Amino acid sequence: MPLNTHFDALYIGGQWIKPANSSVEAVINPASEEVIGEAPVGTVDDAERAIAAARKAFDEGPWPRMSWLERAAILQKFHDALLARKDEIVALCVAEAGSIVPVANIMQFDMAMDGFQYYIHQIQRRDFSVPSSVSVHTNWATGGETLGSTVKVYEPLGVSVGITAYNYPFFLNLAKLGPALASGCTFILKPAPQTPLEALILGDVASEIGLPEGVFSIITGGINVGEKLTTDPRVDQISFTGSDKVGAIIQAQAAPTLKRVALELGGKSAMIVCEDADLQQAAFNGVVNFTNQCGQGCVLQTRQIVHNSIKADYIEMLKAMVSQVNIGDPADPETGMGPLISDTQRQRVLAYIEQGKADGNRLVYGGKIPAGLDKGFYLEPTIFDCASNSTTIAQEEIFGPVVCVMGFDTDEEAIAIANDSQYGLSGGVFSQDAGRAYRIAMQMRTGGVLINGGGGRLNPTVPFGGYKRSGIGKEYGEEGLNEYLEIKVIDFRAA
Ligand code: NAD
Repeated sequence: MPLNTHFDALYIGGQWIKPANSSVEAVINPASEEVIGEAPVGTVDDAERAIAAARKAFDEGPWPRMSWLERAAILQKFHDALLARKDEIVALCVAEAGSIVPVANIMQFDMAMDGFQYYIHQIQRRDFSVPSSVSVHTNWATGGETLGSTVKVYEPLGVSVGITAYNYPFFLNLAKLGPALASGCTFILKPAPQTPLEALILGDVASEIGLPEGVFSIITGGINVGEKLTTDPRVDQISFTGSDKVGAIIQAQAAPTLKRVALELGGKSAMIVCEDADLQQAAFNGVVNFTNQCGQGCVLQTRQIVHNSIKADYIEMLKAMVSQVNIGDPADPETGMGPLISDTQRQRVLAYIEQGKADGNRLVYGGKIPAGLDKGFYLEPTIFDCASNSTTIAQEEIFGPVVCVMGFDTDEEAIAIANDSQYGLSGGVFSQDAGRAYRIAMQMRTGGVLINGGGGRLNPTVPFGGYKRSGIGKEYGEEGLNEYLEIKVIDFRAA
């Protein structure tokens, strides 16, 4: 079945239902400004229907009561049906989110699928922890662990809502769908308004594999829909990926009903380049860190803190490398950097560039709309040499292809600059001395540090998440599944 990109209905609890106001909007390719499909705009009434369906399916339906293995088998079908559509989904990631082909292939699709598969494997393993001494009293299907006279069991938390950002939509949607459904929760996905298609296609696959009624819904739309989903008392958990500003609002919206909230938020991550680093390796990673997805990446290390003895050489190397990056149509395999998601986002980034110049930072490269690219939301990769980390462009998340390079003399100074941020999502250290790099990494107040660029690919067995204003909670690893689970303890009388 070819991939559908023309939707006039929402996927609500297993059925395709026209939105309450019948409103449908065109979806725009950010590279060409051409229409690539249509998507319905969900309303509060649609969210209401999805919540009612999810609540009923959780309270009365088979999904949370199945064994881990039964759920794993259904999710494996879901996984395999997505895999069978890889080429079409990758093409959609290019057309809707503006991802260049390798990013769409690896970061959006392959890594998302690795994560989904990992959650399936994780729940398959959980079935084998049946406590032998008390197994007659426990439901073998739910597993459990004996602690003295007590059995500890994990149970699905309830109705889960996933709200996602626009930058890597397919990846982000699967990062919530996988653990929510694996845990036995029922799940409502609200994608970003800019990228509805990478969510709605999941409805087609869910229909194909036959998820039980009510288990999964997709409600597109904006703030009003998000507000409904995060305030309704029938929703138990929110998993949000987006900006820190909206994350704080969601936490407040969810507070009166005491929902469990997991927040994956923004960043302004620091990359420390020591004087003993392999400069070419560092500069190559430096370029990737502000050009990947046109700088629209939460983990990108857009503050590059370079030892003063090599800073001038580093900047020259960045310039030389970035001048080789082809900017243009992300569908062209030769392209190294595609567009921003919208003109609104481009204007926001351009305003930061103006602010950076007005604040006295030295513009070293870029800063403009590239010549000859009149259609599409392109912007030149932009390098600033910043005198101080306190300047606005070094403190705020720009979410565009802009890097701030700063100098340091001692490791303590580099660590202090790195930690002088409201965020703490990612980080990097480049040094040929592994011990020194590790000591620096240990002192960085951030959820993850890549030494010399790290493994280069998401490892789904490893928890991911931020410190400070970069978030609360983790995705991936056992910790990621636990965000969607309750722990129950059942204590037997010994005699
Ligand atoms: P955003 O915060 O503007 O929007 C994210 C989602 O929240 C959208 O679906 C939006 O419709 C919804 N929303 C907005 N107001 C809401 C409300 N009051 N209640 C409920 N939902 C509401 O983010 P964006 O511009 O789409 O994405 C960019 C941001 O996402 C950046 O800050 C980036 O760092 C962050 N991000 C973080 C991660 C991570 O894993 N930490 C990954 C990707 C993106």
